[in-house]
Amino acid sequence: MERARRPPSRRRLLKGTALAAVPYALLPDPRAGAQVQAPDHPLAEWQPANTANHTAANRPADHRVDHVIIHVTQATYMDTLSIFQNPRKKVSAHYVVRSADGHLAQCVREADVAWHAGNWDHNTRSIGIEHEGWVDRPAYFTDALYEQSARLTAAICTRHGIPKDRAHIIGHHEVPGTDHTDPGPYWDWTRYMRLVNFA
Ligand SMILES: [Zn+2]
Repeated sequence: MERARRPPSRRRLLKGTALAAVPYALLPDPRAGAQVQAPDHPLAEWQPANTANHTAANRPADHRVDHVIIHVTQATYMDTLSIFQNPRKKVSAHYVVRSADGHLAQCVREADVAWHAGNWDHNTRSIGIEHEGWVDRPAYFTDALYEQSARLTAAICTRHGIPKDRAHIIGHHEVPGTDHTDPGPYWDWTRYMRLVNFA
């Protein structure tokens, strides 16, 4: 499906520019300052999940981050953002990638624990990336989605010192104890890992 593409707001462009100039360690702690929020990934749009849907943390100080977990939403991009903003849903991921153009939303800070893996140990040690689409509809896995997601994953791996390999970049279906199948048989891992390593 195609949806209207909104240009980035001037406010977001200004925030992104300011963020790029400030060393990460010098950014204010958002938990201390309520509404101070900006994406960890400069190209992502900040679309915060409801605070009832994730756990505030101070990673990597309190939990080492050593995995990236790849998901497919089984819902549209907009519906996924709505679900994450609904305090009754008890689910979130750090990022959502839009199918049509690879646009990135960040919904949970990388320092915080998102609820995406269905497994507390894996939630505490991972960054979760949702991709708009359905496991049985490979047309959603566009070039733009693969390319932007791979850039994001490469940047996450660099930020957290995570090896860019399949032992550390895993599918939801590889989380111990899960009954989820995403990203499913049409997700092209060979292509994705090549893009991550050459991003
Ligand atoms: Zn999943």
